[in-house]
Amino acid sequence: MNKNGHFGIFGGRYVPETLFSALDDLYKTYIKLKKTPSFRKEFNKLLKDYVGRPTPLTYAKRLSNELGFEVYLKREDLNHTGSHKINNALGQLLVAKHMGKSRIIAETGAGQHGVATATACALFGYECVIYMGSEDVKRQQLNVYRMKLLGATVVSVDAGSKTLKEATTEAIRDWLKNVENTHYIIGSVVGPHPYPSMVREFQSIIGVEAKKQILKERGRLPDGVVACVGGGSNAMGVFSAFVKDVSVKLVAVEGSGLGLDTSEHAAPLSKGRPGILHGALSYLLYSDLGQIELAHSISAGLDYPGVGPELSYLKDEERLTVRAATDETALIGCKWVSQLEGVIPALETSHAFGYLKETKDFKRDDIVILNVSGRGDKDMSTLQNRIELD
Ligand SMILES: *Cc1c(COP(=O)(O)O)cnc(C)c1O
Repeated sequence: MNKNGHFGIFGGRYVPETLFSALDDLYKTYIKLKKTPSFRKEFNKLLKDYVGRPTPLTYAKRLSNELGFEVYLKREDLNHTGSHKINNALGQLLVAKHMGKSRIIAETGAGQHGVATATACALFGYECVIYMGSEDVKRQQLNVYRMKLLGATVVSVDAGSKTLKEATTEAIRDWLKNVENTHYIIGSVVGPHPYPSMVREFQSIIGVEAKKQILKERGRLPDGVVACVGGGSNAMGVFSAFVKDVSVKLVAVEGSGLGLDTSEHAAPLSKGRPGILHGALSYLLYSDLGQIELAHSISAGLDYPGVGPELSYLKDEERLTVRAATDETALIGCKWVSQLEGVIPALETSHAFGYLKETKDFKRDDIVILNVSGRGDKDMSTLQNRIELD
């Protein structure tokens, strides 16, 4: 990344001028804090005593037997609040505190980032407003209630596709109005500089731990690391420790909805073109007329037409192996790992499992780490409607 936040042509800061000084402040504060031992100590203590880190690396024995290669699960589902999102929410809340902000806003899709942000705000006594598309409010009712129980205000956004894209637009609008006292906690490696690199750094603990754990357990690097991709924060979190290890295949699994050949998917790395959305240049979904396309995925956390700029860059550098899994494949993956390993993954993560079940990317005795970005509790009503059990 260069000093303007570009990864190759991607990234940057395409925002109204009103936000420039806020983003500069954020970058400067963050860079300073990152090097401050007391900040690092405070953050690490929270990760240990509150989040429950380090998360385990679990050998998936029955799944490995079936696949013929060896699969380890990095258990972000065991974090407090049930996904990797809490790592970033706490990191950014600490930064906001040091900047003297008193109010926090955030966008959310599946509600996991909203819950993580509401949790961090409760812990530190902050006012918290969460923007969420009205469609997502409907399909993620459990998380909406959790956010409210934690003391947050949830604003239902009724525009456009009524999902994450519009929720993000509304959050940016709020920030423009209230930038003096408000910090916007973006939930993925997207948005204007410095968010993509800052969020990646807060999530990089996933890869740092996983690398240490696999080296201790097996004495060598894995052959592959697999993660699902919405905006890309759990993927960048686990990939970043391995980007320089070129023998390690980094597999990004997007949601291909009803199929890559339809217009109903959420796969900008597979099918998108570079363009600007929410302050940064990245791969995006476009219609034939050049409009930003609505994304479709069974999982609200993948239902976004853009993807992080660094992942866009790694794809163009051919460092990334880009794959996709349909809604149907994700449902199969979910049931498969639930019954083979006793781990019920989030629908987002289920795309990675569905991919793994079908893939020919690995050979016998390869070692593969799959990042279990979250647990499936929030998805029970969707699963009940879609997976028939005797
Ligand atoms: C939010 C979420 C995702 C997608 O977001 P990324 O930024 O791509 O990680 C994936 N899995 C879970 C469990 C989530 O909550």
